[in-house]
Amino acid sequence: MRVGVIALQGDFPEHAYALRRAAEELSVEVDVVPVKRPHHLRDLDALVLTGGESTTIGMLLKRTGLLGHLRDHLSSGVPTLGTCAGAILMAKEVRDAVVGPTSQPVLGVMDISVVRNAFGRQRDSFEADIDVEGIGKVRGVFIRAPAIVKVWGGAAPLAHVQHPRAGRVIVLAQQGPLIASAFHPELSSTDIHRHLLVLAKK
Ligand code: GLN
Repeated sequence: MRVGVIALQGDFPEHAYALRRAAEELSVEVDVVPVKRPHHLRDLDALVLTGGESTTIGMLLKRTGLLGHLRDHLSSGVPTLGTCAGAILMAKEVRDAVVGPTSQPVLGVMDISVVRNAFGRQRDSFEADIDVEGIGKVRGVFIRAPAIVKVWGGAAPLAHVQHPRAGRVIVLAQQGPLIASAFHPELSSTDIHRHLLVLAKK
């Protein structure tokens, strides 16, 4: 299987490592392909959008000409996991907890509404055990994370957290082969990457 990981900004190495371990656990062969230009999207079975800074990644996607191609790929059903900034890029509705509406470039492919920096600033980052539907307990690492505050249409919530500031919010959602995670599964486990590879095998 060929799995592309967007490698413009953010935590490419951690995702590459998690994907290789998940592949080993499933006994499948995986080539991890760094995606920096549109032609790197050729023949991919799955994709990962890294965490980082969604405004920066969005701007770089635009500058490299990847934005439109990536949108087509995701819309055509290539299984994709977006973590944190990646989840923000997949959302159809994005606003910031402090500044409100943002006009940042996004892919806008999932029926989810996200609030950036919903749990506070960098120093308010936290970890929590979360219960993921169909998977079980996963350690969630939330780094200046967004919250998914609404899902509609084809999207369904898979996990929630209860947080003193943000309240009870969705932190993992899926729409067909697209998965948006507010936390960073690549930093704690291989469960969500295995889930992605299983979707890609179908
Ligand atoms: N706060 C960042 C953003 O809005 C996301 C942080 C992350 O990916 N860990 O893009």
